[in-house]
Amino acid sequence: MTPTYPAPAQRPVNPCRRDPDLFFSDDPDDIEAAKNICGGCPSRLACLTYANDHELYHGVWGGLTGDERLHQISGGSKQCHGCQMVRPLGLFHRNARDGYSSQCKTCEKRRDAERNALRKPQLDAYKRAARQRKREAAA
Ligand code: SF4
Ligand SMILES: [Zn+2]
Repeated sequence: MTPTYPAPAQRPVNPCRRDPDLFFSDDPDDIEAAKNICGGCPSRLACLTYANDHELYHGVWGGLTGDERLHQISGGSKQCHGCQMVRPLGLFHRNARDGYSSQCKTCEKRRDAERNALRKPQLDAYKRAARQRKREAAA
């Protein structure tokens, strides 16, 4: 007997997919129209969070323009010790010491990637030694 599978679930299609140019236009009427479309979008919050997390400040995302998103997340700014740029506080992680990390999220990501790259040879050596010990124990 041939097995039957359920039809793939219908994925919601975000309304902006139908006219992406509208969301990156500089025309105030287009911007207003894009914002209205976002108003009825089920992904609005996730979209806004994505744009803020990825520092996307061009176009309408989650119903707000780039300037509006920056304004919304800033509430102040500080200088990053990594890139030395003065950036909105929303682009820094919170910490227990003085409230915000010394480096912006982008610089922290880069620093973590560099640290991990440095640690990789040690980690590989450790894994090799562990495998060797396992093989010897099994022999
Ligand atoms: S909220 Fe985001 S995903 Fe939804 S229509 Fe607006 S831009 Fe598109
Ligand atoms: Zn930085």
